[in-house]
Amino acid sequence: MTFRALVTDRDAEGRVSSSVQTLNEAQLPEGNVTVDVDWAGLNYKDGLCLTGGGGLVRTYPHVAGIDFAGTVRESGDDRYKAGDKVLLTGWRVGETHWGGYAERTRVNADWLVPLPRGLTTRDVMTIGTAGLTAMLAIDRLEAGGLTPEAGEVLITGAAGGVGSIATSLLARLGYHVAALSGRPQHAEALRTLGASVIIDRNEFLGQPDKPLESARFAAAIDNVGGKVLGKLLKQIKYGGQVASVGNAGGIDLSTNVLPFILRGVTLMGIDSVMQPYAARVKAWRRIALTLDLAAYAGLVRQVGLEGLPYAATQILAGEVIGRVLVRPR
Ligand code: NDP
Repeated sequence: MTFRALVTDRDAEGRVSSSVQTLNEAQLPEGNVTVDVDWAGLNYKDGLCLTGGGGLVRTYPHVAGIDFAGTVRESGDDRYKAGDKVLLTGWRVGETHWGGYAERTRVNADWLVPLPRGLTTRDVMTIGTAGLTAMLAIDRLEAGGLTPEAGEVLITGAAGGVGSIATSLLARLGYHVAALSGRPQHAEALRTLGASVIIDRNEFLGQPDKPLESARFAAAIDNVGGKVLGKLLKQIKYGGQVASVGNAGGIDLSTNVLPFILRGVTLMGIDSVMQPYAARVKAWRRIALTLDLAAYAGLVRQVGLEGLPYAATQILAGEVIGRVLVRPR
């Protein structure tokens, strides 16, 4: 009845650190489904949870891991039975509730999604919260009228998890993708995913700032926030849309009203954490039908529980390319 977990704790001086420990089932949190974790993912938010950043974790000791996939071990809910393959993203699991960085976890059945047909537990964690969010952003842009004929779509933070999967999904859907990255050394990998144009982040930010700039992009998916989001809004074409997903470059947004009142630009927020069940199932189905996982394989790295603390510092420093898969056992 014991299992291994990466336990994150805070000492009397407020220093946060993590170590692999052996726990027993009595220590698992409340919930009605116990899951043996096959795979988890590493996301920017996991980096924050493992290092005490962002005030996301309030109660210690804690087990982080905002997304995982595995096999139901025990269920007190009619929707799931032992042996079912499931996945979980969001619902603040890994932040306010113990998450996936363990061989076993216990959660609320309402938070689970059955494994989409055609995908393995490893596949869905290759995609993870990052891929789900990318799909939700594309769905919202298309609901607002975006089509491949509308023109270039800009993806920022393109070499990261959300950015790289958004690049791949959009290219597969026939869009012309401009990938903005601070790491030109990954340009070839982004081209392989389907990006038509690579834009250097420093060159983009280095262009002279004007209240309204040349209209270039039909839409954008922004994973970065801060100065990048402020600048790209001024380059969106008439009637275009911007999906704001992340804040890897900062939470501030400095802009002006001209893109909105002279070009009718729409800025929309994307949240994957509290998405209702039906929207999740629909998005996962579309990912399963669209994403070329074989083409994405070169952007996937694997770590065990012991490797997570270092990988967390890497993702916060913007040094991770694509997705990091976590194998807890
Ligand atoms: P990653 O760390 O994998 O990717 C972030 C990318 O942003 C990096 O790879 C890098 O790309 C770029 N970046 C990093 N630091 C900076 C910086 N200082 N200035 C500008 N660009 C920078 O993270 P994820 O893809 O997992 O997540 C991306 C963002 O989206 C995060 O802020 C995350 O919290 C958020 N998110 C939001 C969700 C939602 O539901 N709204 C769900 C999932 C994630 P490059 O080197 O190519 O420039």
